[in-house]
Amino acid sequence: MVRKGAYGRRGARPMTPRFITIHSTQNYTAGAERHATALKRGALRTGQRPGYLIWHFTVEARFAIQHMPTNEQGIHADFDGPGNHLSIGIEMCENRGNDRAATVERTAMLTAVLMKKNGIPLCNVVPHYHWPRKGKHPPNKNCPHFLMDNGRPGAKWRGFLSRVNYYYRRLE
Ligand SMILES: [Zn+2]
Repeated sequence: MVRKGAYGRRGARPMTPRFITIHSTQNYTAGAERHATALKRGALRTGQRPGYLIWHFTVEARFAIQHMPTNEQGIHADFDGPGNHLSIGIEMCENRGNDRAATVERTAMLTAVLMKKNGIPLCNVVPHYHWPRKGKHPPNKNCPHFLMDNGRPGAKWRGFLSRVNYYYRRLE
């Protein structure tokens, strides 16, 4: 975890999570451990205050790493918008050698557990695309790009949600 009060956790912004936002790193060389190290060192800057990126979990094919508590706001989606203020951020790794299908499955499983723990409904599991970024062109990011169809949610995203729902129902 990133140290309390450090870098992206500066100001410790409390949160009751209402959404889960799914991303992919678009980093083809770094896996979850390298992302964790970068977050802990404050190596990922935003160019906006408070200046450091942070999110809650990074998922690889075989494990996930948590970077901050789920009751604290991250900085991963939409600057000062509801995506950051109200959602748990999950990044899927896409480094070479990391199995994508297994990463997506593990992400679906983690998402289901987080829904259960926080009382979040499936309709509030959203891709980063869902949150427009003020001042950006285009405002809606093609993220996670490999679960979008022509840059927006479609059949692939619905397929992911059905995997989340599959795991969620197994928890009940
Ligand atoms: Zn994203």
